[in-house]
Amino acid sequence: MSSRESLPVPFFDWRALWAERADAYSRILSDTAAMGGFILQGAVDAFEVGLEAYQGGGHAVGVSNGTDAMLLGLRTSGLRPGAEVILPAHGFIAAAQAIHFAGGRPVPVECSPEDGLISPEAVERAITPATGGIMVVHVNGRVGPMAEILEIAGRHRLPVFEDAAQALGARLYDRPAGRFGAWGAFSFYPSKTLGAFGDAGALVTDDEDLARRVRAMRNHGSGPDKTIPADCAEWGTNARIDNLQAAILAYKLGWYDDAIARRREIAARYHAAFAGLERLELPPSPEGEPGRFDIFQNYEVRCDRRDELRAHLLARGVGTIAQWGGVALHQFRGLGFDQHLPLADRWAARSLLLPMNHLLSDGQVDRTIGAVAEFFA
Ligand SMILES: *Cc1c(COP(=O)(O)O)cnc(C)c1O
Repeated sequence: MSSRESLPVPFFDWRALWAERADAYSRILSDTAAMGGFILQGAVDAFEVGLEAYQGGGHAVGVSNGTDAMLLGLRTSGLRPGAEVILPAHGFIAAAQAIHFAGGRPVPVECSPEDGLISPEAVERAITPATGGIMVVHVNGRVGPMAEILEIAGRHRLPVFEDAAQALGARLYDRPAGRFGAWGAFSFYPSKTLGAFGDAGALVTDDEDLARRVRAMRNHGSGPDKTIPADCAEWGTNARIDNLQAAILAYKLGWYDDAIARRREIAARYHAAFAGLERLELPPSPEGEPGRFDIFQNYEVRCDRRDELRAHLLARGVGTIAQWGGVALHQFRGLGFDQHLPLADRWAARSLLLPMNHLLSDGQVDRTIGAVAEFFA
């Protein structure tokens, strides 16, 4: 990672994440630590209240990471043992792992060839008497086709869960990611749009009882959050959010919208510059669809000769990655998946993430654009 970091345009500059506001971060960490605020102190409450305000309501529960947010969400959603949960093959393995460890069976399905999000038709086809829920993944910070999914779920009386790890602040029909289904899970892994300096996550829900249970479960099943468990009513675990991370996140939430605006500006520049490249398939433009607001956790392009493009960009000093290593969920045959999903296979083989984060300078964006254009010239 460190050698790639010294590229003129690193895919992600981990050190810049801290350097951006190093003084403020140092102050927050030392103030919080000096107060003895390490586990479930005021910073966690402040962050949760901030997240609820940002989401326009609901209940937010800070947890250890995005995967645990999904695991606790599923554990409190009445999933029957062995129940099938349908999810997109173009998604991170974490959602499937949470389903597995909640006692269910993940069933990956096809993605839409337009934007790589879960295909409602594929969901409908995968429903069986054993289906216990649908997990939508808002890949790249773009909300999935929720009207269609909620319609299907309603007809089959299935709960909908949201892996919103990439989508804090993304909206569809002016409703934010995480507030469509039973609950939404967010990740604050450092390279996420809202990144901590370590692991952190949150679950959001409109269901007060579910929030109360997740809150207890994250802390060994204890009712009152801040005491040693003396009243375990159900099985819990340690999935607490770190108080120091919460303090950082509460601060970062204050200017999160500016960071997203910068991402959308970069996406618009990429979109304008690449519009004429016939052999490069682009994500949907940031403008155009009323009520939709994509936050561009990633800028994911697709083309034939993906690996050649990647090598070309690296030679020009531009770092890229293939999302999830270029592997779709169902390709993990060792985990027992046996689905045949040609659209997801094709997507995984052709997709590439260009540099996309609010720390990129205009010069770095131009350099990336120039190198991509040169490849296709
Ligand atoms: C990052 C991510 C996760 C996992 O989040 P962690 O906080 O690392 O557990 C889950 N799903 C998606 C789509 C992600 O991008």
